[in-house]
Amino acid sequence: MGKRALLNIDYTIDFVAEDGNLTCGEPGQKLEESIARITEDFIEAGDEVFFAIDAHVEGDDLHPESKLFPPHNIIGTSGRELYGRLADVYENNKHLSHVHYFDKTRYSAFVGTELELKLRERGITELHLVGVCTDICILHTAVDAYNKGFDIVVHKNGVASFNAAGHDWALGHFEATLGGKVV
Ligand code: ZN
Repeated sequence: MGKRALLNIDYTIDFVAEDGNLTCGEPGQKLEESIARITEDFIEAGDEVFFAIDAHVEGDDLHPESKLFPPHNIIGTSGRELYGRLADVYENNKHLSHVHYFDKTRYSAFVGTELELKLRERGITELHLVGVCTDICILHTAVDAYNKGFDIVVHKNGVASFNAAGHDWALGHFEATLGGKVV
């Protein structure tokens, strides 16, 4: 039996706070307690937890997102810090060997990162997803996970988007097309 892991994506000030540079707004803020609790549950159960956090360089005009979105999660700014109670959960547990944090530069947490190697090394086959935005970074990560043969579980009360229709569409897509579970 393979093991499970939690992947925590982009729950940062820029993506969640009222004055964040690319905020999901209220739907994202409403997750604060549930995303923190889900993360604590995984940590306390001894399951691997990975924080995959967008990292951009100021003025990087060659990055494809520079033509689509305002600057966000710029390295060295407070906008890239985890939002709300999740920040405390991470701070309190980051010393544990099963709690990991890494930067990503694309929507998918698999692109240009060591995530797949880390999952395979640990015998993880089931990837649980929380964070924002449901129809962008969560979706692209889930598609990559599907193509790489991982089982996907998306926590409905752990994901949000500024685009309500996109959020609903993505939840359906996880189940109908990626064979995942939405719990
Ligand atoms: Zn980005």
